[in-house]
Amino acid sequence: MTIKRKCVGCGIIKNREDMIKITKEHATDNLVVNGNSKVFGRSAYLCYNNTCIEQAFKKNKLQKILKTPVSQELKGQLTDELRHHESK
Ligand SMILES: [Zn+2]
Repeated sequence: MTIKRKCVGCGIIKNREDMIKITKEHATDNLVVNGNSKVFGRSAYLCYNNTCIEQAFKKNKLQKILKTPVSQELKGQLTDELRHHESK
């Protein structure tokens, strides 16, 4: 069975593996981008798409879903992840 998740940016539901995962790690409260299976906690998902990343940071959407403040640094990490994905 394919796991589907909803994008925080555009609201479209896609296959989990086609999305960027951001997890607030339960043990540390750190935000982890595309963490491995050992990372547990509240998660948000985004399309590999600059518009969706921008949308998620607008109106503090991502912050609300993860229930923790998100930094510009995280945005940078997401952009890196996007670049990574596109160069594959
Ligand atoms: Zn999206």
